[in-house]
Amino acid sequence: MIQLYQPLNFMGTLYRETRQAIVDIEKMFAIISEQPEIADRPDARDLVVREGRVVFDNVAFAYDPQRPILRDVSFEAAPGATIAIVGPSGAGKSTISRLMFRFYEPQSGRILIDGQDIAAVTQRSLRDSIGMVPQDTVLFNDSIAYNIRYGRWDASMEEVREAARLAQIDNFIRSAPGGYGAQVGERGLKLSGGEKQRVAIARTILKGPPILVLDEATSALDSFTEHEIQEALARVSRGRTTLVIAHRLSTVVDADEILFLDQGRVMERGSHQQLLARGGAYAAMWSRQREADAAERALRRAAQEE
Ligand code: ATP
Repeated sequence: MIQLYQPLNFMGTLYRETRQAIVDIEKMFAIISEQPEIADRPDARDLVVREGRVVFDNVAFAYDPQRPILRDVSFEAAPGATIAIVGPSGAGKSTISRLMFRFYEPQSGRILIDGQDIAAVTQRSLRDSIGMVPQDTVLFNDSIAYNIRYGRWDASMEEVREAARLAQIDNFIRSAPGGYGAQVGERGLKLSGGEKQRVAIARTILKGPPILVLDEATSALDSFTEHEIQEALARVSRGRTTLVIAHRLSTVVDADEILFLDQGRVMERGSHQQLLARGGAYAAMWSRQREADAAERALRRAAQEE
């Protein structure tokens, strides 16, 4: 029996490793297509995260040298704090998350994590330390359990389930035909944007990184899903330094600091209450969103009454 078991076990390992390699190649291509020029410096060291303090120090950036995207962006996220970045479309919000992950490098200024310039550390150690919940999560054509376990390969099935529960996606998975074994993708289970984002949150919970970057989906989610995602995000960001790129201001009212970005500059900063009291661009955006929400609710009520 043992004679048969060993080769089978070896083949299993080989299969898993090959599959992991395919996934890594996909990841690699995603990163290469994002930014081919970034490479580790020859003397790059591993990032050591002690408390998770994130500092943007006068960061300027342009994809194309003729067109500056970020100018003089400075902020500091204390360990465990949540910093929200808001502002009009095209202001440069997601660019900040791309720089944080070092898909691109600033033209000037520095990004520091616990005092270490991220340009001087290995990309692998940087990306291992940051959990990213992107706007559009790409899932693999594999089981839903595999897609969650991608956050940490040695996680037990129990841990996978617990992460899914915290991310508010466990009920959905259990009610799907095949449960955690259900295949995701073209010929399998099709997930909505909100469900995919919750799978990404479950992955991040398993990974347990000290720093989080959450890029809120721009696509409209119904208010129930939005509420569920908000709760899941609030759970995962507890005790972790978190950068939230937000489109709906209702999601950032509890942030420790909100930066209002416009044309790549931080135009206003402060807590939700401070920014409302200031009566500037943030306050105007807040009123507009509240009016839009109220109009939408009225429309929905009218449609229900018909
Ligand atoms: P939104 O709220 O619509 O998501 P945003 O504030 O997150 O917008 P970014 O995605 O950071 O904005 O984009 C800022 C600007 O940079 C935009 O004008 C965009 O067209 C430009 N941009 C984004 N990615 C690239 C790229 N890879 N190459 C060139 N320009 C880019």
